[in-house]
Amino acid sequence: MQQVLVLGATGSIGLNTLDVLARHPDRFGIHTLTANRSVDKMVELVASYQPKCVIMACPDAAAELERRLSDRAVTSVLSGQAALEQAASSPDIDVVMAAIVGFAGLRPTLAAARHGKRLLLANKEALVSAGSVFMEACRQGGATLLPIDSEHNAMFQCIPASVGGRPDTRAVEKILLTASGGPFRGRSRDELQAVTPDQACAHPNWSMGRKISVDSATLMNKGLELAEACWLFDCTPSDIDVVVHPQSIIHSLVRFADGSVLAQMGNPDMRTPIAYGLSWPDRIAAGVQALDLVAVARLDFQAPDLDAFPCLRLAQEAITVPGGMCILNAANEVAVAAFLAGEAGFTDIDRVIERTLEVVPAADCCDLAAVEALDAAARASAREELAQLAGARGGA
Ligand code: NAD
Ligand code: MG
Repeated sequence: MQQVLVLGATGSIGLNTLDVLARHPDRFGIHTLTANRSVDKMVELVASYQPKCVIMACPDAAAELERRLSDRAVTSVLSGQAALEQAASSPDIDVVMAAIVGFAGLRPTLAAARHGKRLLLANKEALVSAGSVFMEACRQGGATLLPIDSEHNAMFQCIPASVGGRPDTRAVEKILLTASGGPFRGRSRDELQAVTPDQACAHPNWSMGRKISVDSATLMNKGLELAEACWLFDCTPSDIDVVVHPQSIIHSLVRFADGSVLAQMGNPDMRTPIAYGLSWPDRIAAGVQALDLVAVARLDFQAPDLDAFPCLRLAQEAITVPGGMCILNAANEVAVAAFLAGEAGFTDIDRVIERTLEVVPAADCCDLAAVEALDAAARASAREELAQLAGARGGA
Protein backbone atom coordinates (compact mmCIF):
# COMPACT_ATOMS: atom_id res chain seq x y z
CA MET A 1 0.00 0.00 0.00
CA GLN A 2 1.51 3.32 -1.14
CA GLN A 3 0.71 6.38 0.98
CA VAL A 4 0.11 9.50 -1.12
CA LEU A 5 0.49 13.22 -0.42
CA VAL A 6 -1.36 15.47 -2.90
CA LEU A 7 0.10 19.00 -2.92
CA GLY A 8 -2.55 21.29 -4.44
CA ALA A 9 -5.40 18.81 -3.93
CA THR A 10 -8.20 21.33 -4.61
CA GLY A 11 -6.88 22.26 -8.06
CA SER A 12 -7.52 20.74 -11.46
CA ILE A 13 -4.62 18.25 -11.28
CA GLY A 14 -5.27 17.54 -7.60
CA LEU A 15 -8.91 16.61 -8.22
CA ASN A 16 -8.01 14.42 -11.20
CA THR A 17 -5.40 12.69 -9.04
CA LEU A 18 -7.96 11.96 -6.32
CA ASP A 19 -10.32 10.57 -8.96
CA VAL A 20 -7.65 8.07 -10.11
CA LEU A 21 -6.53 7.20 -6.55
CA ALA A 22 -10.11 6.46 -5.48
CA ARG A 23 -10.33 3.81 -8.24
CA HIS A 24 -7.50 1.84 -6.60
CA PRO A 25 -8.05 1.70 -2.83
CA ASP A 26 -6.10 -1.58 -2.73
CA ARG A 27 -2.92 0.13 -4.00
CA PHE A 28 -3.03 3.69 -2.64
CA GLY A 29 -3.86 5.37 0.67
CA ILE A 30 -4.85 9.05 0.52
CA HIS A 31 -2.69 10.24 3.44
CA THR A 32 -2.39 14.04 3.22
CA LEU A 33 -4.13 16.73 1.14
CA THR A 34 -3.00 20.35 0.86
CA ALA A 35 -4.41 23.60 -0.53
CA ASN A 36 -3.82 27.30 -0.25
CA ARG A 37 -7.11 28.68 1.09
CA SER A 38 -10.06 26.87 -0.56
CA VAL A 39 -11.83 25.86 2.65
CA ASP A 40 -15.19 24.87 1.10
CA LYS A 41 -13.53 22.58 -1.41
CA MET A 42 -11.31 21.04 1.27
CA VAL A 43 -14.32 20.30 3.51
CA GLU A 44 -15.81 18.34 0.57
CA LEU A 45 -12.54 16.47 -0.05
CA VAL A 46 -12.23 15.48 3.61
CA ALA A 47 -15.80 14.11 3.55
CA SER A 48 -15.12 12.13 0.34
CA TYR A 49 -11.59 10.82 0.97
CA GLN A 50 -11.01 10.98 4.75
CA PRO A 51 -7.28 11.81 4.65
CA LYS A 52 -5.26 11.46 7.85
CA CYS A 53 -4.02 15.03 7.54
CA VAL A 54 -4.88 18.28 5.77
CA ILE A 55 -2.59 21.29 5.36
CA MET A 56 -3.71 24.79 4.36
CA ALA A 57 -0.84 27.08 3.32
CA CYS A 58 -2.85 30.06 4.61
CA PRO A 59 -3.12 30.02 8.46
CA ASP A 60 -6.51 31.81 8.51
CA ALA A 61 -7.93 29.20 6.15
CA ALA A 62 -6.52 26.45 8.38
CA ALA A 63 -8.21 27.97 11.45
CA GLU A 64 -11.55 28.14 9.61
CA LEU A 65 -11.16 24.58 8.32
CA GLU A 66 -10.42 23.31 11.83
CA ARG A 67 -13.67 24.88 13.09
CA ARG A 68 -15.63 23.34 10.21
CA LEU A 69 -14.11 19.88 10.81
CA SER A 70 -14.46 19.89 14.61
CA ASP A 71 -16.73 16.82 14.50
CA ARG A 72 -14.25 14.83 12.36
CA ALA A 73 -11.44 14.01 14.74
CA VAL A 74 -9.81 11.55 12.30
CA THR A 75 -8.31 14.34 10.18
CA SER A 76 -5.67 16.63 11.69
CA VAL A 77 -5.31 20.18 10.29
CA LEU A 78 -1.93 21.90 9.94
CA SER A 79 -0.91 25.17 8.30
CA GLY A 80 1.97 27.04 6.72
CA GLN A 81 4.90 26.47 4.39
CA ALA A 82 6.97 24.50 6.91
CA ALA A 83 4.14 22.00 7.35
CA LEU A 84 4.03 21.46 3.56
CA GLU A 85 7.78 20.73 3.51
CA GLN A 86 7.52 18.44 6.53
CA ALA A 87 4.73 16.42 4.92
CA ALA A 88 6.76 16.03 1.69
CA SER A 89 9.73 14.80 3.79
CA SER A 90 7.77 12.49 6.07
CA PRO A 91 8.73 8.79 6.22
CA ASP A 92 4.96 8.03 6.25
CA ILE A 93 4.68 9.23 2.62
CA ASP A 94 5.75 7.17 -0.41
CA VAL A 95 4.28 9.15 -3.32
CA VAL A 96 4.06 12.93 -3.73
CA MET A 97 1.89 14.55 -6.39
CA ALA A 98 3.39 18.04 -6.89
CA ALA A 99 0.39 20.00 -8.18
CA ILE A 100 0.70 23.42 -6.54
CA VAL A 101 0.66 26.10 -9.24
CA GLY A 102 3.73 28.28 -9.72
CA PHE A 103 6.95 28.99 -7.87
CA ALA A 104 5.02 28.65 -4.58
CA GLY A 105 5.32 24.87 -5.03
CA LEU A 106 9.11 24.79 -5.19
CA ARG A 107 10.01 24.18 -1.54
CA PRO A 108 7.68 21.24 -0.81
CA THR A 109 8.48 19.71 -4.21
CA LEU A 110 12.22 20.00 -3.53
CA ALA A 111 11.68 18.43 -0.10
CA ALA A 112 10.06 15.42 -1.77
CA ALA A 113 13.01 15.18 -4.19
CA ARG A 114 15.56 15.36 -1.38
CA HIS A 115 13.76 12.64 0.58
CA GLY A 116 13.74 10.15 -2.28
CA LYS A 117 10.00 10.05 -2.89
CA ARG A 118 8.24 8.82 -5.99
CA LEU A 119 7.68 12.37 -7.26
CA LEU A 120 4.89 13.02 -9.76
CA LEU A 121 5.71 16.43 -11.21
CA ALA A 122 2.89 18.60 -12.54
CA ASN A 123 4.30 21.82 -11.02
CA LYS A 124 6.53 22.65 -14.02
CA GLU A 125 7.37 26.14 -12.69
CA ALA A 126 9.38 24.53 -9.86
CA LEU A 127 11.62 22.58 -12.26
CA VAL A 128 11.89 25.40 -14.78
CA SER A 129 12.93 27.99 -12.16
CA ALA A 130 15.28 25.83 -10.14
CA GLY A 131 16.60 23.58 -12.97
CA SER A 132 19.96 22.23 -11.86
CA VAL A 133 19.19 22.58 -8.11
CA PHE A 134 16.02 20.53 -8.62
CA MET A 135 17.65 17.78 -10.70
CA GLU A 136 20.56 17.54 -8.25
CA ALA A 137 18.10 17.17 -5.34
CA CYS A 138 16.43 14.27 -7.20
CA ARG A 139 19.80 12.58 -7.83
CA GLN A 140 21.10 13.01 -4.29
CA GLY A 141 17.81 12.05 -2.66
CA GLY A 142 17.28 9.07 -4.97
CA ALA A 143 13.82 10.31 -6.00
CA THR A 144 11.94 8.68 -8.88
CA LEU A 145 10.88 11.65 -11.01
CA LEU A 146 7.79 11.02 -13.15
CA PRO A 147 6.53 13.75 -15.51
CA ILE A 148 2.78 14.46 -15.32
CA ASP A 149 2.62 17.26 -17.89
CA SER A 150 0.87 15.40 -20.73
CA GLU A 151 3.59 16.14 -23.32
CA HIS A 152 6.45 15.02 -21.08
CA ASN A 153 4.53 12.01 -19.92
CA ALA A 154 4.07 11.14 -23.62
CA MET A 155 7.83 11.53 -24.25
CA PHE A 156 8.55 9.43 -21.17
CA GLN A 157 6.25 6.72 -22.55
CA CYS A 158 7.99 6.79 -25.96
CA ILE A 159 11.62 6.82 -24.76
CA PRO A 160 12.87 3.48 -23.39
CA ALA A 161 14.11 3.30 -19.81
CA SER A 162 17.76 2.57 -19.13
CA VAL A 163 18.94 0.39 -16.26
CA GLY A 164 17.85 2.28 -13.12
CA GLY A 165 14.68 3.57 -14.74
CA ARG A 166 15.93 6.90 -16.15
CA PRO A 167 15.06 7.61 -19.82
CA ASP A 168 17.71 6.32 -22.24
CA THR A 169 17.98 9.09 -24.85
CA ARG A 170 21.04 7.76 -26.73
CA ALA A 171 19.11 6.88 -29.89
CA VAL A 172 16.77 9.90 -29.74
CA GLU A 173 17.27 12.26 -32.69
CA LYS A 174 14.48 14.74 -32.06
CA ILE A 175 11.69 15.34 -29.58
CA LEU A 176 8.51 16.77 -31.13
CA LEU A 177 6.71 18.80 -28.45
CA THR A 178 3.06 19.28 -29.44
CA ALA A 179 1.02 22.41 -28.65
CA SER A 180 -2.72 22.85 -29.07
CA GLY A 181 -2.22 26.50 -30.00
CA GLY A 182 -4.71 27.55 -27.29
CA PRO A 183 -7.97 29.47 -27.72
CA PHE A 184 -6.44 32.23 -29.90
CA ARG A 185 -4.69 30.06 -32.49
CA GLY A 186 -4.79 31.78 -35.90
CA ARG A 187 -5.24 35.31 -34.50
CA SER A 188 -2.89 38.18 -35.32
CA ARG A 189 -1.22 40.24 -32.60
CA ASP A 190 -3.64 43.12 -33.23
CA GLU A 191 -6.58 40.79 -32.66
CA LEU A 192 -5.13 39.83 -29.26
CA GLN A 193 -5.01 43.34 -27.73
CA ALA A 194 -8.50 43.34 -26.22
CA VAL A 195 -9.06 39.69 -25.24
CA THR A 196 -10.45 39.11 -21.73
CA PRO A 197 -9.35 36.69 -18.97
CA ASP A 198 -12.47 34.56 -19.48
CA GLN A 199 -11.74 34.25 -23.23
CA ALA A 200 -8.12 33.35 -22.47
CA CYS A 201 -9.22 30.68 -19.97
CA ALA A 202 -11.68 29.01 -22.39
CA HIS A 203 -9.26 26.37 -23.68
CA PRO A 204 -10.65 24.35 -26.60
CA ASN A 205 -9.44 20.89 -25.42
CA TRP A 206 -8.43 20.98 -21.74
CA SER A 207 -10.12 22.18 -18.54
CA MET A 208 -7.31 23.54 -16.31
CA GLY A 209 -6.51 26.12 -13.63
CA ARG A 210 -6.59 29.77 -14.72
CA LYS A 211 -2.84 30.41 -14.64
CA ILE A 212 -1.88 27.53 -16.95
CA SER A 213 -4.88 28.36 -19.17
CA VAL A 214 -3.47 31.86 -19.76
CA ASP A 215 -0.01 30.33 -20.33
CA SER A 216 -1.56 28.12 -23.01
CA ALA A 217 -3.21 31.15 -24.63
CA THR A 218 0.10 33.12 -24.79
CA LEU A 219 2.13 29.98 -25.74
CA MET A 220 4.28 30.61 -22.67
CA ASN A 221 3.17 27.17 -21.52
CA LYS A 222 5.14 25.73 -24.48
CA GLY A 223 8.15 27.83 -23.52
CA LEU A 224 8.05 26.48 -19.97
CA GLU A 225 7.58 22.97 -21.37
CA LEU A 226 10.58 23.36 -23.65
CA ALA A 227 12.79 24.04 -20.61
CA GLU A 228 11.03 21.26 -18.68
CA ALA A 229 11.85 18.74 -21.44
CA CYS A 230 15.51 19.85 -21.54
CA TRP A 231 15.88 19.08 -17.82
CA LEU A 232 13.87 15.86 -17.82
CA PHE A 233 15.50 14.33 -20.88
CA ASP A 234 18.94 15.91 -20.57
CA CYS A 235 18.83 17.66 -23.95
CA THR A 236 19.09 21.15 -25.46
CA PRO A 237 16.45 23.32 -27.19
CA SER A 238 17.94 22.38 -30.58
CA ASP A 239 16.94 18.75 -29.87
CA ILE A 240 13.26 19.78 -29.59
CA ASP A 241 10.80 21.06 -32.25
CA VAL A 242 7.46 22.60 -31.26
CA VAL A 243 4.57 21.45 -33.47
CA VAL A 244 1.07 22.89 -33.23
CA HIS A 245 -1.50 20.08 -33.23
CA PRO A 246 -4.95 21.59 -32.59
CA GLN A 247 -6.80 18.35 -31.74
CA SER A 248 -4.57 17.45 -28.72
CA ILE A 249 -4.86 13.74 -29.49
CA ILE A 250 -1.13 13.17 -29.95
CA HIS A 251 0.52 14.37 -26.74
CA SER A 252 4.10 14.44 -28.15
CA LEU A 253 6.40 12.37 -30.37
CA VAL A 254 9.98 11.13 -30.40
CA ARG A 255 12.06 10.50 -33.54
CA PHE A 256 14.85 7.92 -33.29
CA ALA A 257 18.09 7.42 -35.23
CA ASP A 258 16.53 4.76 -37.47
CA GLY A 259 13.77 7.12 -38.67
CA SER A 260 11.05 5.65 -36.43
CA VAL A 261 8.72 8.24 -34.89
CA LEU A 262 6.77 7.10 -31.81
CA ALA A 263 3.75 9.08 -30.63
CA GLN A 264 1.63 8.70 -27.52
CA MET A 265 -2.07 9.27 -28.20
CA GLY A 266 -5.24 9.45 -26.19
CA ASN A 267 -8.20 11.66 -25.38
CA PRO A 268 -7.12 14.92 -23.72
CA ASP A 269 -7.70 13.80 -20.12
CA MET A 270 -5.03 14.36 -17.45
CA ARG A 271 -6.06 11.16 -15.67
CA THR A 272 -4.01 9.20 -18.26
CA PRO A 273 -0.61 10.75 -17.41
CA ILE A 274 -1.54 10.80 -13.69
CA ALA A 275 -2.37 7.08 -13.72
CA TYR A 276 0.87 6.29 -15.56
CA GLY A 277 2.86 8.30 -13.01
CA LEU A 278 1.15 6.45 -10.17
CA SER A 279 1.57 2.96 -11.60
CA TRP A 280 4.75 3.10 -13.78
CA PRO A 281 6.11 0.72 -14.98
CA ASP A 282 2.67 -0.97 -14.72
CA ARG A 283 -0.56 0.49 -16.08
CA ILE A 284 -3.81 0.91 -14.17
CA ALA A 285 -7.34 1.98 -15.13
CA ALA A 286 -7.80 5.76 -15.17
CA GLY A 287 -11.50 6.15 -16.00
CA VAL A 288 -10.61 7.71 -19.38
CA GLN A 289 -12.91 7.25 -22.38
CA ALA A 290 -11.50 5.05 -25.15
CA LEU A 291 -10.08 6.99 -28.10
CA ASP A 292 -12.42 6.89 -31.10
CA LEU A 293 -10.20 7.59 -34.12
CA VAL A 294 -13.09 7.58 -36.58
CA ALA A 295 -14.80 10.32 -34.56
CA VAL A 296 -11.52 12.28 -34.40
CA ALA A 297 -11.21 11.73 -38.20
CA ARG A 298 -8.15 13.92 -38.77
CA LEU A 299 -4.97 15.09 -37.07
CA ASP A 300 -3.53 18.45 -38.20
CA PHE A 301 -0.05 19.93 -37.70
CA GLN A 302 1.26 23.47 -38.12
CA ALA A 303 4.30 25.56 -37.20
CA PRO A 304 3.83 27.92 -34.20
CA ASP A 305 3.29 31.65 -34.95
CA LEU A 306 6.06 33.37 -32.99
CA ASP A 307 5.07 36.86 -34.23
CA ALA A 308 1.58 36.75 -32.75
CA PHE A 309 2.78 34.79 -29.68
CA PRO A 310 6.27 36.08 -28.74
CA CYS A 311 6.34 34.27 -25.36
CA LEU A 312 7.66 31.07 -26.93
CA ARG A 313 10.51 32.98 -28.59
CA LEU A 314 11.30 34.73 -25.27
CA ALA A 315 11.58 31.33 -23.59
CA GLN A 316 13.76 29.94 -26.38
CA GLU A 317 16.15 32.84 -25.76
CA ALA A 318 15.96 32.76 -21.95
CA ILE A 319 16.87 29.05 -21.80
CA THR A 320 20.34 29.87 -23.13
CA VAL A 321 21.03 32.46 -20.35
CA PRO A 322 22.03 31.36 -16.80
CA GLY A 323 19.01 31.91 -14.56
CA GLY A 324 17.07 33.20 -17.57
CA MET A 325 14.14 30.82 -17.08
CA CYS A 326 13.88 31.74 -13.39
CA ILE A 327 13.59 35.43 -14.36
CA LEU A 328 11.15 34.64 -17.18
CA ASN A 329 8.97 32.45 -14.95
CA ALA A 330 8.76 35.06 -12.18
CA ALA A 331 7.90 37.86 -14.63
CA ASN A 332 5.29 35.63 -16.26
CA GLU A 333 3.64 34.79 -12.91
CA VAL A 334 3.42 38.51 -12.02
CA ALA A 335 2.12 39.54 -15.46
CA VAL A 336 -0.43 36.71 -15.68
CA ALA A 337 -1.76 37.50 -12.19
CA ALA A 338 -2.18 41.16 -13.24
CA PHE A 339 -3.97 40.12 -16.44
CA LEU A 340 -6.32 37.79 -14.52
CA ALA A 341 -7.03 40.61 -12.03
CA GLY A 342 -7.97 42.96 -14.89
CA GLU A 343 -4.94 45.18 -14.21
CA ALA A 344 -3.04 44.47 -17.45
CA GLY A 345 -3.84 43.62 -21.05
CA PHE A 346 -3.10 40.28 -22.71
CA THR A 347 -0.25 41.63 -24.84
CA ASP A 348 1.25 43.38 -21.79
CA ILE A 349 2.25 39.91 -20.58
CA ASP A 350 5.04 39.42 -23.13
CA ARG A 351 6.06 43.12 -22.91
CA VAL A 352 6.60 42.84 -19.16
CA ILE A 353 8.55 39.60 -19.53
CA GLU A 354 10.77 40.96 -22.30
CA ARG A 355 11.59 44.11 -20.28
CA THR A 356 12.24 42.11 -17.10
CA LEU A 357 14.66 39.86 -18.97
CA GLU A 358 16.50 42.97 -20.19
CA VAL A 359 16.68 44.64 -16.78
CA VAL A 360 17.39 41.82 -14.30
CA PRO A 361 21.02 40.63 -14.46
CA ALA A 362 21.47 36.96 -15.32
CA ALA A 363 22.85 34.86 -12.48
CA ASP A 364 23.87 31.23 -12.21
CA CYS A 365 21.78 29.69 -9.41
CA CYS A 366 23.76 27.03 -7.56
CA ASP A 367 21.47 26.66 -4.53
CA LEU A 368 17.91 27.33 -3.37
CA ALA A 369 18.81 30.68 -1.78
CA ALA A 370 20.18 31.94 -5.11
CA VAL A 371 17.06 30.74 -6.97
CA GLU A 372 14.77 32.48 -4.45
CA ALA A 373 16.80 35.70 -4.59
CA LEU A 374 16.67 35.79 -8.40
CA ASP A 375 12.94 35.02 -8.39
CA ALA A 376 12.33 37.88 -5.91
CA ALA A 377 14.42 40.35 -7.94
CA ALA A 378 12.56 39.44 -11.14
CA ARG A 379 9.15 39.81 -9.43
CA ALA A 380 10.04 43.27 -8.10
CA SER A 381 11.24 44.35 -11.53
CA ALA A 382 8.17 42.93 -13.30
CA ARG A 383 5.89 44.86 -10.90
CA GLU A 384 7.77 48.06 -11.76
CA GLU A 385 7.35 47.38 -15.47
CA LEU A 386 3.62 46.84 -14.98
CA ALA A 387 3.34 50.11 -13.02
CA GLN A 388 5.18 51.95 -15.80
CA LEU A 389 2.89 50.50 -18.46
CA ALA A 390 -0.16 51.55 -16.42
CA GLY A 391 1.37 55.01 -15.84
CA ALA A 392 2.11 55.50 -19.55
CA ARG A 393 -1.47 54.58 -20.37
CA GLY A 394 -2.89 56.85 -17.66
CA GLY A 395 -0.86 59.77 -19.02
CA ALA A 396 -1.81 59.15 -22.64
P1 NAD B 1 -5.09 25.07 -10.04
O1 NAD B 1 -5.03 26.55 -9.98
O2 NAD B 1 -6.34 24.42 -10.52
O3 NAD B 1 -4.71 24.45 -8.61
C1 NAD B 1 -3.62 24.90 -7.89
C2 NAD B 1 -3.55 24.24 -6.51
O4 NAD B 1 -2.42 24.81 -5.81
C3 NAD B 1 -4.76 24.47 -5.63
O5 NAD B 1 -5.00 23.35 -4.83
C4 NAD B 1 -4.34 25.66 -4.73
O6 NAD B 1 -5.00 25.68 -3.49
C5 NAD B 1 -2.86 25.37 -4.56
N1 NAD B 1 -2.07 26.59 -4.34
C6 NAD B 1 -2.13 27.74 -5.06
N2 NAD B 1 -1.28 28.66 -4.55
C7 NAD B 1 -0.67 28.09 -3.48
C8 NAD B 1 0.29 28.53 -2.53
N3 NAD B 1 0.80 29.78 -2.58
N4 NAD B 1 0.70 27.66 -1.58
C9 NAD B 1 0.19 26.42 -1.51
N5 NAD B 1 -0.74 25.95 -2.37
C10 NAD B 1 -1.16 26.77 -3.35
O7 NAD B 1 -3.84 24.64 -10.98
P2 NAD B 1 -3.72 23.34 -11.91
O8 NAD B 1 -4.29 23.63 -13.25
O9 NAD B 1 -4.16 22.12 -11.17
O10 NAD B 1 -2.13 23.29 -12.13
C11 NAD B 1 -1.25 22.84 -11.10
C12 NAD B 1 0.14 22.66 -11.70
O11 NAD B 1 0.07 21.62 -12.68
C13 NAD B 1 0.66 23.89 -12.46
O12 NAD B 1 2.02 24.00 -12.27
C14 NAD B 1 0.35 23.58 -13.92
O13 NAD B 1 1.26 24.20 -14.80
C15 NAD B 1 0.53 22.08 -13.94
N6 NAD B 1 -0.21 21.39 -15.01
C16 NAD B 1 -1.57 21.46 -15.01
C17 NAD B 1 -2.29 20.81 -16.02
C18 NAD B 1 -3.80 20.82 -16.00
O14 NAD B 1 -4.40 20.12 -16.83
N7 NAD B 1 -4.46 21.53 -15.12
C19 NAD B 1 -1.61 20.14 -17.04
C20 NAD B 1 -0.22 20.12 -17.01
C21 NAD B 1 0.47 20.74 -15.98
MG1 MG C 1 1.40 20.34 -21.00
